[in-house]
Amino acid sequence: MLSISHTLMAQMHVHLESGYPHEACGILIGDVTDGGASTHSPAKVVRDVVMVPNVWDVKSERESLHNRYLISPEDVARADREAGRRGWDIVGFFHSHPDHPSQPSETDREFAWPVVSFVIVSVRQGLAVTTQSWVLRDDRSKFDEEAIVAE
Ligand SMILES: [Zn+2]
Repeated sequence: MLSISHTLMAQMHVHLESGYPHEACGILIGDVTDGGASTHSPAKVVRDVVMVPNVWDVKSERESLHNRYLISPEDVARADREAGRRGWDIVGFFHSHPDHPSQPSETDREFAWPVVSFVIVSVRQGLAVTTQSWVLRDDRSKFDEEAIVAE
């Protein structure tokens, strides 16, 4: 489960909408708590969102900023320091799918890793329409959808 305030959700959507028609991205920082005995997955609480540039370098005509995103290791390190300074952790990453559903692509699976949340927002005609969160299985075989609680 991923908890996020309406305010932070709105900030995330504005950032992703402003990146349209390109994919935009960012990092979610906050608390990871034990989800309790009834669940095997941890509960995450988003405390802040860190907007980062999409640094995907266009490597071929097929893959462009329209359908690829890449967060630089420097930006991840910066977000990690920012989280640590405030007693938090990186709990997830988010990016937009311009004019595509908020479901993970094969490329998303290749570049993701388990435990953290991968939030995908479908941005159609410049407007965020659906938001879903995904967690990669430990064996990296597929993503499972994770509930988002906006409060
Ligand atoms: Zn994607």
